Amino acid sequence: MESAMQNPTENELIQAESRREAYMNAIPKEVIAQEDRLPIQIQSMNASNKSKLQNIYLVAEELFRLRPSFVACKEGCSSCCHMNISITSEEASRISTATAQKAKEISFSISHPLSTFAGKPCPFLDISQGNCSIYPDRPLACRKHVSFFDSATYCDVTIANDISVPLMGFSGLDNALYSVKNKNQNLVIADIRDFFPSTK
Ligand code: SF4
Repeated sequence: MESAMQNPTENELIQAESRREAYMNAIPKEVIAQEDRLPIQIQSMNASNKSKLQNIYLVAEELFRLRPSFVACKEGCSSCCHMNISITSEEASRISTATAQKAKEISFSISHPLSTFAGKPCPFLDISQGNCSIYPDRPLACRKHVSFFDSATYCDVTIANDISVPLMGFSGLDNALYSVKNKNQNLVIADIRDFFPSTK
């Protein structure tokens, strides 16, 4: 998709990186330590995948609790719901249970170019309100996605996929999520629209 917008200026990028750093410094140290321990904790849990996911999402909530002071993200803004959204088959299963919509059985991971779903809404976006209809069950990718610019300008799908922006990286969350495998002990990752293709 061709971009009609300007890239962020150097000053905007510096400010966004500064907000990202301030946010990282604001997260309580015990929460960072909890995130570091999470992969081992999840792997050693004798519990259902549903419980494991719940634990991962709870730590994500703690990590992102302070985000409103640092990010452009606001209720009703849904730009990032119009991009590729990678989820695991176990997250799809959780969404399936919550919505009573059957998730498509996928036995291997699918990787898409960034342009594949650019501008195409997530099937769970309430377009009239700009809200997520599965908010308590939204996947980790959605919980982690924030913008450190002072407005949502660069979240616009006509530019967001073409620019490099400061992001949050939490390898503990990712590794914990990837350790929650399906009944065949496979990790299957695909776009949310691959699992729920009805409105693809
Ligand atoms: S699951 Fe919810 S938050 Fe995530 S992309 Fe879909 S509508 Fe947006």
